[in-house]
Amino acid sequence: MTIEFTRELNPNPVPDGERARLLADPGFGRVFTDHMVTITWTADRGWHDARLRPYAPLALDPATAVFHYGQAIFEGFKAYAQPDGSIKTFRPDANARRFQKSAQRMALPELPVDDFVAATDLLISTDRAWVPRDGEKSLYVRPFMMATEVFLGVRPATHVTFAVIASPAASYFSGGLHPVSIWLSEEYTRAAPGGTGAAKCSGNYAASLIAQQQALAHGCEQVVFLDAVERRWVEELGGMNIYFVFDDGTLVTPPTSGTILEGVTRDALLTLARERGHAVDVRPIDIQQWRDGVASGRITEVFACGTAAVITAIGRLVWQGGELTIGDGGIGKVAQELRDALLAIQYGRTPDTHGWMHLV
Ligand code: PMP
Repeated sequence: MTIEFTRELNPNPVPDGERARLLADPGFGRVFTDHMVTITWTADRGWHDARLRPYAPLALDPATAVFHYGQAIFEGFKAYAQPDGSIKTFRPDANARRFQKSAQRMALPELPVDDFVAATDLLISTDRAWVPRDGEKSLYVRPFMMATEVFLGVRPATHVTFAVIASPAASYFSGGLHPVSIWLSEEYTRAAPGGTGAAKCSGNYAASLIAQQQALAHGCEQVVFLDAVERRWVEELGGMNIYFVFDDGTLVTPPTSGTILEGVTRDALLTLARERGHAVDVRPIDIQQWRDGVASGRITEVFACGTAAVITAIGRLVWQGGELTIGDGGIGKVAQELRDALLAIQYGRTPDTHGWMHLV
């Protein structure tokens, strides 16, 4: 670790009773813990002024670069209460490395992996009372970085702020664990070759919202995007990767060759599926193969995966002028098996043979 943190504890933390009430039904992304971490970077001094401090609004000048040009990235991973009372995070180093890749693409400074993990560990351990202990809940950790130089010129900022906040979370989709309907976005794409698809930058999410609006208008919870060149290859959802399950037990997921975010969950599932005897093929799959595969019964399940919702079965695919139901529209056997296997590791119900869990 190269950075020393100064610590200012919150003089007015949320009272115990109120925190217990919030933890009983935290929803997703609306409740925040008592503290946050900030680290400043400037072109002349590098990373400095690392601080743990009370959770509070940031006061930013209206001419702050991030408001205008969106030079911003973020990450998301979770901390889980373990049966022995300790707290562990799932592969935070993988998120730290992806954060570095995102920073590089967005001309932001790279935060060393050790400092990323130290910053997130410090926040989680300070706010350990906020890690839910019951049900399928966790503490969602949100590191982010943005251009905080006060300057309207279009160039990489020379003043940057890294911050970490944390939010107790229940299941991501408001309906809990149920198969979702997916809208096929044929009008809008998410990422082009040479673009920012593989970076977790804020603009990617802003650009996906119009397709998300269309999804909601068509009774769907999420959007699936096709590639931007041929408008044919299935890439990923707005915030999750995708897997197809074939009738011989083979799993197929598209390759993350620059336009797809390299999901940590996707990567873990490659390993868990192989260990459970599934063949796993990383290869492109096109939208016609999806439709034909479901019609012929060769594709038996399709599911999405990501930190927030772990694994979500896709029950229905809807597009302009049509729709299809996948399998019986329910939660598939393979999706359920892999979901259970991953959650068992994350909640410490089974040994962590892969060294994925990090003790906070
Ligand atoms: N794709 C996109 C676009 C995402 O935002 C996410 C969430 N980070 C994922 C995939 C899944 O990644 P992970 O498994 O690391 O959460």
